Amino acid sequence: MAIEQVGIVGAGQMGNGIAHVFALAGYDVLMTDVSTDAMDAALALIGRNLERQVSRGAITAEARAAALARIVTTPRLADLGRTDLVIEAATERETIKQAIFEDLLPHLKPETILTSNTSSISITRLASRTDRPEKFMGFHFMNPVPVMQLVELIRGIATDEPTFAACKEVVDRLGKSAATAEDFPAFIVNRILMPMINEAVYALYEGVGNVASIDTSLKLGANHPMGPLELADFIGLDTCLAIMNVLHEGLADTKYRPCPLLTKYVEAGWLGRKTKRGFYDYRGEKPVPTR
Ligand code: NAD
Repeated sequence: MAIEQVGIVGAGQMGNGIAHVFALAGYDVLMTDVSTDAMDAALALIGRNLERQVSRGAITAEARAAALARIVTTPRLADLGRTDLVIEAATERETIKQAIFEDLLPHLKPETILTSNTSSISITRLASRTDRPEKFMGFHFMNPVPVMQLVELIRGIATDEPTFAACKEVVDRLGKSAATAEDFPAFIVNRILMPMINEAVYALYEGVGNVASIDTSLKLGANHPMGPLELADFIGLDTCLAIMNVLHEGLADTKYRPCPLLTKYVEAGWLGRKTKRGFYDYRGEKPVPTR
């Protein structure tokens, strides 16, 4: 089946980036969110990010205008029923994702492929609650979507070959690279990345180092482009905690227990860049470590 129109659920950090790259690749995009503010902010941010690509000479002004014209927002989830491919990119909570698919099902065309951008939740379990587990996949983009090359493709136990092939073809058309992961908690990237971030928070919690020394150590000592705490703020501490909980529960191994300090930051609402405070305070001109 040719995929031309794509529905995106969730207009947050990931939803806006996903809309950006699909529109630039020529797909028609229909995006929804429970928050109209989030949708307005996403459209404004996509416009600014495309503008930056124009000023760098990466795309033309015509391509920017055409991409923006291809993105339509709607407050009604049911409108996404007419799209060929749905990418769910809402908050990382299983009950939210299940409710979205449940509400969408009665409005879907029979051939529509359903996917989730979840960082960690079982694709097989999400798929099993829909009417089309064979047409359900994990479609995991990295943040920031316009910059990051990788898309993890995750087959659920029932995913059929035409669905996988259609999603792989989409990744190719986006000009990105796919890596295939089996459906186990947090797949490949986050299975390896999140325990490292969690360990950095433990090092902070136990006083092995402070925010600055931990990030400097990994940047200069391991050649990472960002320190683990800076990266955690970038991803969102609520998302990091949610992924650690999925690893802990899904793999039943205490080595994945989330650091209590990570939980405390999330309880404080210090979720990182998106709330202007996390391991760094972003309210001033320069980020300032909070510990
Ligand atoms: P976010 O908090 O920036 O955005 C989530 C959006 O979902 C919000 O705008 C919220 O209003 C919306 N939402 C919540 N419930 C909804 C509903 N019922 N219907 C429609 N919209 C709803 O989060 P994010 O970082 O964009 O993450 C979204 C998904 O992408 C999560 O599953 C996350 O695990 C995954 N992901 C995140 C990253 C990352 O680095 N942040 C990377 C890869 C994948």
